[in-house]
Amino acid sequence: METYQHFIDGQYVDPVGGEWMYTVNPYDGQAWARIPKGCERDVDRAVQAAKRAMTSGPYASMTPTQRGKLMVRLADLVAANAQRLAEIEVRDNGKLYSEMKGQLDYHPEWWRYYGGLADKLEGAVMPIDKPDHFAFTSHEPVGVVGALTAWNSPLLFIAWKCAPAIAAGCAVVVKPSEFASASTLAFAALTREAGFPDGVFNVVAGLGTTVGAALVDHPDVAKITFTGSDTTGARIYAQAARTMKRVTLELGGKSPNIVFDDCDLDKAAAGVISGIFAATGQTCIAGSRLLVQNAIKDAFTERVATLGATARRGDPMKADTNIGPVTTPPQYQKILDYIDIARREGARCILGGKPATDMPGGQFVEPTIFVDVKPDMRIAREEVFGPVLSIIGFDDEADAIRIANDTIYGLAAGVWTENIGRAIRVSRAIRAGTVWVNTYRAISYMMPFGGMKQSGIGRESGIESIRSYLETKSTLISFAQGAPGNPFVMR
Ligand code: NAD
Repeated sequence: METYQHFIDGQYVDPVGGEWMYTVNPYDGQAWARIPKGCERDVDRAVQAAKRAMTSGPYASMTPTQRGKLMVRLADLVAANAQRLAEIEVRDNGKLYSEMKGQLDYHPEWWRYYGGLADKLEGAVMPIDKPDHFAFTSHEPVGVVGALTAWNSPLLFIAWKCAPAIAAGCAVVVKPSEFASASTLAFAALTREAGFPDGVFNVVAGLGTTVGAALVDHPDVAKITFTGSDTTGARIYAQAARTMKRVTLELGGKSPNIVFDDCDLDKAAAGVISGIFAATGQTCIAGSRLLVQNAIKDAFTERVATLGATARRGDPMKADTNIGPVTTPPQYQKILDYIDIARREGARCILGGKPATDMPGGQFVEPTIFVDVKPDMRIAREEVFGPVLSIIGFDDEADAIRIANDTIYGLAAGVWTENIGRAIRVSRAIRAGTVWVNTYRAISYMMPFGGMKQSGIGRESGIESIRSYLETKSTLISFAQGAPGNPFVMR
């Protein structure tokens, strides 16, 4: 059994309360590592270390260029350790190794991109309309950042959150999900190897309701960046308001994948399958609502079901596995509950619809497709976070847009058409942070990612993201000579 410790102030340390918990491999159901079950005191130690790093010592006096160089060094270390980190994360959350290795190979680009951006955060000299004043703006780090992540892609979220935060000059305290903390704890060693000063990057493992809540409450944390469920996100938003923390919230979705009758049907079918069955449907961007133009609905449904039926379940470490286990026992139960709800509401299951019992750990669900789904059914409105697709027909563009937007979420959408005018009209009309046309699940460190409506607040990736880790300061300097003016009126 392996042991992972907290990473605080540049050192691996045991939890102060002496409590530990086990992390389970979802493929075989076996506990494989011991991780700290931290408490408020661990959080405070980490926040104080982060605060010290920002106010005294080498990090506080480092130039942005030096900071950027450390980040590029870290990128190279992640690249060199991609296989090892990918294997840890697969053991922890059951994601396919092929997907994880791809993520880890791409992960360094966030550190390179933001490392390069660190010394380009320019302010402006303002052509101010006050005589005898020199005025300029500058950008300062917002302060200590608390980063709370979900279990489905912990290391990717580290890149999305910590790379812009550190480029901005912040220090971070990460609280990974209690279901998948090992890869984040292993990653921390690379920040030390890259030469990051103590306290810049900290990880405290533990439960959300204790460690997570303590981080959100801590008066010395200036900003919370969170990826997780909308229920937890709403709680954190309210809690963060008490100390006026800045927040970035990346929450859930019920993304529509819209297939028009003029599209390339092979590409669309592959995109639909990738949108819902990749990562066993455990992605916030899952294209869980397939909207198909009625003229091709039956034929396209058949095509998608045939392709979906070819998905091979198995050991996520094996290259030929397409569907891995569900990561957590509560999530497994939630998916099965939604399958029951869909049946009770009158939707018809044409593929899967039950647990796959032929696997060792027991946490497998068959790729599932429902037809005869009405837009007002719960299966069409609520996030399942599993391999469950709902198919809904539509007549024309207006009908497709109306159904697509009839949701509290607005994270992502797919549009499949060969008609460029339609592609532009529909992608403009969809209220979602990302719209993919003739592709799905394409992400980049350059492209802002985040949700409209109840899918979240703020954006990650791209230049836009770094602004959320900065405060703008306006400085006005008088160079007037002579007597002071009237002190009782505004200048
Ligand atoms: P979750 O909300 O249960 O947990 C997320 C994190 O918050 C974990 O680290 C957890 O320990 C912590 N947490 C839980 N309760 C807390 C509290 N009271 N105070 C502070 N922290 C607390 O989410 P999850 O089950 O880990 O992840 C699945 C969800 O994440 C899905 O809804 C999915 O859509 C969403 N998600 C969103 C994105 C995105 O970028 N928009 C990406 C992946 C996942």
